[in-house]
Amino acid sequence: MIDRDRLAGLLSRERAAFAERNPRSAAEYAKAGHLFGRVPMTWMNKKAAGFPLYLDSAVGAVVTDVDGHEYTDFCLGDTAAMAGHAPEQTAEAVQRRFASGACAMLPTPDAAWVGAELTRRFGVTEWSFALTATDANRWVIRLLRAITGRPRILFNSYCYHGSVDESLIVLEDGRPRNREGNVGAPVDVTVTSRVAEYNDLAGLERELAHGDVAAVVMEPALTNIGIVLPEPGYLDGVRELTRRYDTFLVNDETHTFSAGPGGATKAWNLTPDVVTIGKAIGGGIPAAAYGLSAEVAARINTMKELDLVDMGGVGGTLAGNALSIAATRATLEHVLTDAAFERMTALAERFAAGVQAVIAAHDLPWSVSRLGARAEYRFASPAPRTGTESAAKADPDLEDYLHVYLANRGILLTPFHNMALMSPATTEAQVDHHRTVFARAVEELYRA
Ligand code: PMP
Repeated sequence: MIDRDRLAGLLSRERAAFAERNPRSAAEYAKAGHLFGRVPMTWMNKKAAGFPLYLDSAVGAVVTDVDGHEYTDFCLGDTAAMAGHAPEQTAEAVQRRFASGACAMLPTPDAAWVGAELTRRFGVTEWSFALTATDANRWVIRLLRAITGRPRILFNSYCYHGSVDESLIVLEDGRPRNREGNVGAPVDVTVTSRVAEYNDLAGLERELAHGDVAAVVMEPALTNIGIVLPEPGYLDGVRELTRRYDTFLVNDETHTFSAGPGGATKAWNLTPDVVTIGKAIGGGIPAAAYGLSAEVAARINTMKELDLVDMGGVGGTLAGNALSIAATRATLEHVLTDAAFERMTALAERFAAGVQAVIAAHDLPWSVSRLGARAEYRFASPAPRTGTESAAKADPDLEDYLHVYLANRGILLTPFHNMALMSPATTEAQVDHHRTVFARAVEELYRA
């Protein structure tokens, strides 16, 4: 059991040390009165320490803040920088492309290369581009509603797929409801959506049996409520049930891309109808994509009444722009290569083994889960098997303590998570440093 008074004392000690260490970041935050919430985007107020660190530079796996501190960055932009920050080949391609025009409303030859490469990696064959994973998911949802004529989309409880209206649904005591924090929902989410627990095939079948679900949109493993891995047979069962009930299956690979060069889809031989992906593929430049199976593409094409060219609700002026596509090509061709994933995965194994050793040494009721190049610890043991179980194990004070403790000693984890991601630039020494500091944080907390 955690001594909550001890935790509160340690957290305030670490917050005070953070404030003292980071006067320039504090001053920048104080100056930003004309930003709503003092930050460029309101979620940047998710700060364990009272104010955010301000970025000076980020190269490879190292972030430098405006106070001159260097950090090993295991956050990597919550996957947007999985290629490492400012990867050289992407930076060169982006500079070259930008210097010769970025947004002309004309395609560039790079796009066909990227489509073919995404096909090699993920299997589905016809690709289209967006700038965020949220938009890729939104547009896929529209397309699949259009071709099925079915109104609802099914999600797993406590999933995250971006600010997609339909996805903000959870199960509470077995009943669907709006997820907490669903700001300004256009309609009650239970009108547009259905929900099942991850790893629960009986629950999924119950919902699909209504016959009104156009698509199941899911991460092959949940990654936004800790990492929740599939039990044996679960993903095969999802595929079998979606086929039986004529529902399309969409794999959102935005985070599970960490599983390998073709994400969990390739690593686990999955056969979704659609794949969506964002963040990392652009190497730090906004880029996202969705890939359709030949069958889905053919069904869309037969519906001549669908307006996919003008204002039909699918598309964005900057989607597929030359800069974002050039960045994606360079990142896939030179940075997030098959060989890079092997290294990154070995580093994540080392990271998880280090965390597991600390958990075992203190006999903590915690667990660490890994998905390729990504590892995350959760204050639950055994590791939760559904999103709802995992959500119930959240401990914000404990999470804040670990985040601030690590930040004060030069390590960044992902806000909203205890997630650590490896980039091609991450080193074993950085992973081992985390283990040492994490062990000290835990020792201070549990010291008799
Ligand atoms: N899908 C998944 C699985 C995600 O984790 C996220 C963001 N964390 C998104 C989609 C949305 O990405 P973005 O905010 O870049 O649109």
